[in-house]
Amino acid sequence: VKRIVVKIGTSSLILANGQINLKNMDDLAFTLSSLRNEGYDIILVTSGAIGVGLNVLGLDKRPSEIAQQQALASIGQVELMSLYNHMFARYQQKVSQLLLTNDVIEYPESRQNASMSLQAILSMGIIPIINENDAVSVDEMDHKTKFGDNDRLGAIVTNLADADLLIMLSDIDGLYDKNPNIFDDAKLIDNVSEITETLMKAAGGAGSRFGTGGMTSKLEAAKLIFDTDKQMVLTNGARIREIRDIINGKKKGTYFG
Ligand code: ADP
Repeated sequence: VKRIVVKIGTSSLILANGQINLKNMDDLAFTLSSLRNEGYDIILVTSGAIGVGLNVLGLDKRPSEIAQQQALASIGQVELMSLYNHMFARYQQKVSQLLLTNDVIEYPESRQNASMSLQAILSMGIIPIINENDAVSVDEMDHKTKFGDNDRLGAIVTNLADADLLIMLSDIDGLYDKNPNIFDDAKLIDNVSEITETLMKAAGGAGSRFGTGGMTSKLEAAKLIFDTDKQMVLTNGARIREIRDIINGKKKGTYFG
């Protein structure tokens, strides 16, 4: 493994009380910076702009209106990047920001441009931090005009950058055979080699408070990863410091591939 995409979900960035999880962010900055120093190419796909926007404005509920959500994403994105910039700088690591839209899927020329830009950023030793351009992407649920959620974006970026591995960080250790919030006897699934109907059903439960996609969108992302013979690991963002074990397949989590 040489090039890694790490996707961090809202649930790992925003605490249940709405505050920003600065510890997870700092752990992430430390870990990704040291991997970069070891010679890995690292790309970070981050969610959390709306959650951070709520925090900036002191609101506690996601508004239902799309325009309001877009405004919050636009406000939150600045603060989110400001935090990342500051935290990565503590480890002498420079970062850049890329806000993508579905254009990179629809138009080969946009795809080519995004890919070349990513390549140039990586060759400068910089960690690109990617999010969807929420303020201009429209139609929340329609995958034709919007990624839908960053899980899918994580898989798309993995393919775009021809990375070897996608690490998905969430607030849970991996995929369980049923929703662990409801069933005490839910068991962690160590390996998934195919996305079956049974799995999709197991993943059907709603996600955490601020998260959006839940497990279903993580399995949708896994499908894209399978299509291109790459690998994906779903694991807990609270233990990002153990990332070397994740890369070596030795860490608790669900491995896809
Ligand atoms: P993120 O914000 O990290 O992308 P989400 O909150 O969208 O994550 O999704 C993760 C949540 O999905 C978990 O915290 C858990 O509550 C829920 N979930 C539902 N079904 C399952 C399952 N079968 N296995 C694991 N988690 C599940």
